[in-house]
Amino acid sequence: VNRSTITMAMDELAASGIIESNYKGGTRIISNTWAVLLSENNIWNRYMNIGSFKSNQAMIQVINRLEFTPGMLRLGTGELDPALFPAELWKKAVKSLENIQSLNYLEASGLYELRCAIAEHVKKIGIMTNPEQILITSGSLQALQLISVCILSADSVVYTEAPTYLKSLQIFQSAGIALENIPMDAEGILHHQIPMADKRTRILYTIPTNHNPTGITMSDQRKQALFDYCSFNRIPIIEDGAYQELYFEDRSPQPLKQMDQKGDIIYLGTVSKTLSPGLRIGWVIASESIINRLGDVKMQMDYGASSVSQWLLTEFLTSGMYEKHLAQIRKEMQQRRDHAIRMIDKYLGDQVTYRIPQGGFYIWMRFNKKIPMQKLFEEAVKVNVLLNLGDIYDYKPTNALRISYSYLNCKEFAEAIKKLAAIINRIR
Ligand code: PMP
Repeated sequence: VNRSTITMAMDELAASGIIESNYKGGTRIISNTWAVLLSENNIWNRYMNIGSFKSNQAMIQVINRLEFTPGMLRLGTGELDPALFPAELWKKAVKSLENIQSLNYLEASGLYELRCAIAEHVKKIGIMTNPEQILITSGSLQALQLISVCILSADSVVYTEAPTYLKSLQIFQSAGIALENIPMDAEGILHHQIPMADKRTRILYTIPTNHNPTGITMSDQRKQALFDYCSFNRIPIIEDGAYQELYFEDRSPQPLKQMDQKGDIIYLGTVSKTLSPGLRIGWVIASESIINRLGDVKMQMDYGASSVSQWLLTEFLTSGMYEKHLAQIRKEMQQRRDHAIRMIDKYLGDQVTYRIPQGGFYIWMRFNKKIPMQKLFEEAVKVNVLLNLGDIYDYKPTNALRISYSYLNCKEFAEAIKKLAAIINRIR
């Protein structure tokens, strides 16, 4: 075989999580299961990789595994600190389950009571809707999957911010859908760089508020300009509102969906970042025809999101417990952001550049000088610090980290940044 065949085979093994290349150019096997399967000439070998779904990026597989190492300081994790789990509220919510009459399958778009509660709840962020325009999904990840298999095809294109959360997923890529990067500035996506015309079916996927991974919230002017530009050029929009409610100012930034009178926008919501990803509950707000199409396919996939979770969230929303909890989380996140910035300035000061986020979980921290990122990652793991490299979220090298202040408490955050600074001083 020639050299390029070997390179391609190595790339495939890396993408499947079987091998891992390190910064010195060395390669090692990282998945024992796979090694055993391969070496024993197992009957399943030839089936393993022929499915249509691609494997996760090798780096994401490594991160997912290391997250569960005891004592690991997770400096990039996009989840709430387990210490913020509202145990008393959960007890009340669980108690309310005593009144449930049935846990049978639900209708395709989800528990009616929950859809009513969500329609009421999203009024607070300026979205006027009704239960018929809402579909309950198993997290917004499933909403993205439904979109990728229901209303797009292998010759579609999705425009995304660069960097973006979508790059860290393989759902769209597995469906053969092209992702095209649109650059951002401090106010958000540079909409004029979205092509005006394209023969392919195309949509824009955007996280306008508290963006993952950059933390940017689109300015109101940019939102209006983006909406007008997309309407004029007939580009439908997926608005991912995962971090919409985690704002630190007095009022919620306006979602794009608020401008939408004609149903041009599919809005995605979730409680994963505010309450619990373990509930696996998200929602889609869109025109009834889109809801019916996605709901029909969702029934084929899993017969509906967990009804226990749906009842629990209904109780959280209708009792006012969710609103109370949100207020606490916003305050806590703002304090943690302020602390995170103090620590970054103290220990990394003139070595990094970042913008101060106005909400959400993330600080997009770029190094001013080129840093060997793979080595940084490996050295950090050796001292029990887990990093989310910026390259997970972009197609070109970023020389950046996605820092999260949501998961670690202030003491742990300070410790992790101190360790990070020591490594950088050693390896740069
Ligand atoms: N969208 C964005 C922007 C996210 O950051 C995440 C979680 N990382 C999701 C969607 C998925 O959330 P869920 O748990 O609701 O599937």
